[in-house]
Amino acid sequence: MEKRAAVGDDGMVGTAPAVGETASRVQNAPTLYVVVPCYNEQEVLPETARRLGDILRAMRATGSIGPASRVLFVDDGSSDATWELIEGLHRNAAASDGLFAGVKLAHNAGHQNALYCGLMVALRRGADVAISIDADLQDDVRLIPQMVEAWDNGAQIVYGVRRRRDKDTVAKRSTAEAFYKLMRLLGAETVPDHADYRLMGRPALEALSQYSEVNLFLRGIVPMLGFKTERLYYDRAARFAGTSKYPLKKMLAFALNGITSFSDRPIHLITLAGALTLLVSFIMLVYVLVSALTGRAVAGWGSIMVSIWFVGGLVMVSLGVVGEYIGKIYLESKHRPRYIVEEELQ
Ligand code: UDP
Ligand code: MG
Repeated sequence: MEKRAAVGDDGMVGTAPAVGETASRVQNAPTLYVVVPCYNEQEVLPETARRLGDILRAMRATGSIGPASRVLFVDDGSSDATWELIEGLHRNAAASDGLFAGVKLAHNAGHQNALYCGLMVALRRGADVAISIDADLQDDVRLIPQMVEAWDNGAQIVYGVRRRRDKDTVAKRSTAEAFYKLMRLLGAETVPDHADYRLMGRPALEALSQYSEVNLFLRGIVPMLGFKTERLYYDRAARFAGTSKYPLKKMLAFALNGITSFSDRPIHLITLAGALTLLVSFIMLVYVLVSALTGRAVAGWGSIMVSIWFVGGLVMVSLGVVGEYIGKIYLESKHRPRYIVEEELQ
């Protein structure tokens, strides 16, 4: 969607700057993009647009964000009326303040890809700062001004973190907790109880654009970027309307993707298990020899036991070694940037 709004996309057109301090504040005010991935969200979308619209308009009025700021809906290949609703919002807004923009994906690319697309569009359109938020109003929109304030005070990335999860089902809560624990155990850095409600400044977005991997797991990548970060806490509400687009099956796939995208520790574990099995075979050998010498051994038993453990261990170690190489190839194939420059002095 490259339709341009009548007012605002490139700055101050049509808005008379106020006098004095407010004027300079408005001129320097950052362009904020709120990126909202939507998959079959026709039930909640009007309310989401209303609430986000209210907040952004208020922020524009006080000059904390610039007039080119937008709510960018990314339609992730919905099969309901989601896109028609977005088109309607865009049309109505274009006549007034052009607040609502949209991108339509050709097929259901998944939450993470839709989000990434929205962030990249925001970057291309010159956003100074982008906030990603789910369409279902589970995340507290009142955090948006606070996030921008934290950014104003120097944070490049601001995480919205859930204080309590009592609105989630027990199944969802316990699986999520287990997941974050496992991630930490496997050495991937994530922010516990942070879903994809976060602010990213332009340098962070540019850094993110260098990650060319296809298996996207933003909650793992963003903490890898570095930069000055901040956490803000909120209470997560229940879904405003509609049903979860993340059934258990999708959630498990998401978790597995998160783990395998960030950690080659499972491969190390195979190597370790192989080494332990080999160790057991040597212990067995000693035990067998001792039994033979003390004359308590059944004929043939010792050689079978030792070879079972030994061959088993050998196979596992070999698998592990092959796996180590595959792990390296896997990480190479992601073409991740080796480093990200935050600042350069000339
Ligand atoms: N979503 C999406 N594509 C998908 C699945 C979900 O863009 O394939 C969006 C969805 O519209 C919502 C967000 O991702 O804005 C989170 O989904 P949901 O609220 O259903 O997940 P839950 O909060 O239940 O984990
Ligand atoms: Mg939700």
